[in-house]
Amino acid sequence: MARPRTGSEGARATKPVQSKDRATSSVASRRAVLKRIKDEDVEHVLFWFTDLEGHLKSFAITPSEIEGALDDGMGFDGSSITGFNRIEESDMVAIPDPETFEIMPRPVDEHGHALGAKVGRMICDVVKPDGKPYEGDPRYILKLAIERMKKLGFDAFNVGPELEYFLFEDDKGTETIDEGGYFAMTVQDAATEVRNDTIGALESVGIEIEYHHHEVAPSQHEIDMRYDNALSMADKTMTYRIVVKEVAAWHGYYATFMPKPLFGENGSGMHTHMSLFKGGRNQFFDAKDPNHLSPTAKAFIAGLLTHARELSAVLAQWVNSYKRLVPGYEAPVYVAWSQRNRSALIRIPLYKPGAEQATRAEIRCPDPACNPYLTFAALLHAGLEGIEKGYELPDPMETNLYHLTAEQRRERGIVSLPETLGEAIDELSRSELAKKALGPHIFDRYVELKRKEWDEYRVQLTDWEMKKYLSVL
Ligand code: GLU
Ligand code: MG
Repeated sequence: MARPRTGSEGARATKPVQSKDRATSSVASRRAVLKRIKDEDVEHVLFWFTDLEGHLKSFAITPSEIEGALDDGMGFDGSSITGFNRIEESDMVAIPDPETFEIMPRPVDEHGHALGAKVGRMICDVVKPDGKPYEGDPRYILKLAIERMKKLGFDAFNVGPELEYFLFEDDKGTETIDEGGYFAMTVQDAATEVRNDTIGALESVGIEIEYHHHEVAPSQHEIDMRYDNALSMADKTMTYRIVVKEVAAWHGYYATFMPKPLFGENGSGMHTHMSLFKGGRNQFFDAKDPNHLSPTAKAFIAGLLTHARELSAVLAQWVNSYKRLVPGYEAPVYVAWSQRNRSALIRIPLYKPGAEQATRAEIRCPDPACNPYLTFAALLHAGLEGIEKGYELPDPMETNLYHLTAEQRRERGIVSLPETLGEAIDELSRSELAKKALGPHIFDRYVELKRKEWDEYRVQLTDWEMKKYLSVL
């Protein structure tokens, strides 16, 4: 948790920021936030930012402090935030983005009265005491990726992530709350009420929902947001995760985005649909191409395929992520693209006449426990690399890749994603593109952090080993 530098009188920056007005937001949007806080009797405002691993960090400001905080930001000690600076240069400032102000959903009692305090929230950019963007802020890394895209002549990287998650009885085990199954209807799906409340809560914070259903595994769900530009969508993804968890908790359940919580069942993915727009038009669409894919789309997809292995440690960042990326569970294993096939890393959803704006590529390896800012930045950089360097797209693979033998895959030149976090980190640590995408500051810290996680894991003795070996060796 971020520790705001609080004085004895409450949440106040002890180190006021020198510049008179460091906010880059408009005066009008700051006024609008102040008015809403007053009109709606908001009791606290949360300032949110994200650490390297995508954990949400938050501290609360009282309404009396908000005006100054909107202009100057709030100082906090960054030394205890994962991946942020260590103690010697730990002063950080969180600058809230007033455009992101929302009032958080609350549970209601049986009479429909809201419970608990009325809390607002804003997403922040993290800057250094001199007002310059902090290179360790994942939101800044995504902004840099978007800048690169704009230099290449595009206006928007639109993304639609499909987050899957499980509902369990509590966070101590994996006791499921329904048997469910793909698209299962109400009778079987005991969690429908939770899901409906979750959708209401998400919509109340400005997140448009397009589609939701029970997923394949017991107690597994998916709620899909309408696509948005990458920065807004990364903010929304952070909000989505906390809202899903909170609403589950109101109902006495635990929601988890852990990629593979149940052995022998599908894991949870965050398939991400992507397209590039310019002047309001989808640059991925080409009416004349048999697949309706433009040369831009093809080069972008080629970029994703070329760099998938080295960026895997960003898109699937945990030891557990690699338990999901195995054959047989609708998760991708092989680096290939396809129009139909869900075993391929990249899928092109079927074109519907008149749906030019919806032409897109779906990458299936990210999982919902990723850092969405770094994930979208990495995807964008990989795609842009393909465009900038004119990569050629190989032929699609329409067979079920799970069924090919190693020999057949070799013949077709199909490589696999890394099988472990250790392998993924080795790839990442050698990657020039990853260094460019994450920036040297995050790159070094990320490699160190994730290697430590892998080293911690690889010395563990598992139940599987004890059962398999002890009595026979
Ligand atoms: N849960 C699967 C995964 O791990 C995906 C299922 C689907 O196609 O939606 O990616
Ligand atoms: Mg799904």
